[in-house]
Amino acid sequence: MSSPDITNAERKAIAAVLKTSDLSMGDEIEKFEAAFREFSGMRHALGVNSGTAGLHLCVRAAGIEPGDLVLTTPFSFVASTNVLLYESAIPIFVDVEPESGNINIDDLIFAVDDLFAGEKIKKKWFPRMGADTDKPLKAILAVDVFGQPVDFDPIRIIARDRGIRIIEDSCEALGAEYKGRLAGTLGDFGVYGFYPNKQMTTGEGGVIITNDQDAAAFMKALRNQGRFQGDTWLQHTYLGYNYRLDEMSAALGRIQLARLQEMQNKRAQVAAWYNQRLEKISEIETQNIQNTTSKPSWFVYVIKFPPDMNRDAIVKALAEEGIPARPYFAPIHLQPYMINKFGYQQGDYPVTEDLGRRGLALPFSSVMREEQVDFVCEKISGIIEEKRFLEFLD
Ligand SMILES: *Cc1c(COP(=O)(O)O)cnc(C)c1O
Repeated sequence: MSSPDITNAERKAIAAVLKTSDLSMGDEIEKFEAAFREFSGMRHALGVNSGTAGLHLCVRAAGIEPGDLVLTTPFSFVASTNVLLYESAIPIFVDVEPESGNINIDDLIFAVDDLFAGEKIKKKWFPRMGADTDKPLKAILAVDVFGQPVDFDPIRIIARDRGIRIIEDSCEALGAEYKGRLAGTLGDFGVYGFYPNKQMTTGEGGVIITNDQDAAAFMKALRNQGRFQGDTWLQHTYLGYNYRLDEMSAALGRIQLARLQEMQNKRAQVAAWYNQRLEKISEIETQNIQNTTSKPSWFVYVIKFPPDMNRDAIVKALAEEGIPARPYFAPIHLQPYMINKFGYQQGDYPVTEDLGRRGLALPFSSVMREEQVDFVCEKISGIIEEKRFLEFLD
């Protein structure tokens, strides 16, 4: 589905770390974090060992506690909801906009107002079960899906008026811009993820950016087994985690960040090749760039089929041709553990479910060549023309 984009510069940087005896907590993490402060213009950057770990630390730093309500999206990778469940908070889902797949801003504003209104009005946003709480709305966790930032200006206004925090999951939007401002810098906390399919990689890893000095010091302690500034190795002010990023990963990440623009340009080129070919096929809807996105950052290449065409049969037909393709995303509220816990049903978030049924991620990376894009597009077009996907219908 994707390939990392690694050059000799990355190999050399990792090899240099391996010649030292500092494989963790050395200079590389410092340099990596300095590079992210410079890149983002934010005062604090904290390297962590996954995007999920980064989001979890933000949840702790935002003061989210058991029973607290957090507004978020069901159309995302599961990690953005799971980090709330780790703290026994209650995710309150708001459906998404059909074009971008990002949280629906009008609905989100309604939800915030309702959650601050009386008990009865509040409950209409609650899941059927598992949300027995009278705790308040603490935060909004918004996700910039597919490399496009959420429309954050209205969210910032309402969050400020209501005194709630904003966590921006920018794990899919590194380098994207919203009205000229960098994705990840639009809330109180931003997180980027560096799994090998992302715009840049550290193998496993992530980074948190924030301007909040106290929160940064707290998250730094939690990342390092709860050791606060001044604690010795066996003193632990807080219940912490081992969420540290090792030196090899940090060295890799620093070189990758320096190459980000180059890799993003290559991804944009691959997306343009796909667009040229697929826009000619009337059945296929290609990714739409919102007018608030002043700079997209291509993460995945997702197309949509019409509701009457069986997407899963197309996946099987493509697999027969040796082409991997994946539904993206599967709605979070319909995952087995979410149904068990909150009693969600089909139909609860119709736009999310519709995108989940019709969307398909095609092979995509910055190292993909034009012939490869040609090959994928020819096969898709053949499968549709000859209605070969009908063979795979059950
Ligand atoms: C990739 C991703 C993450 C983080 O994933 P990790 O594998 O933990 O680095 C979080 N949220 C979204 C939306 C993602 O796509």
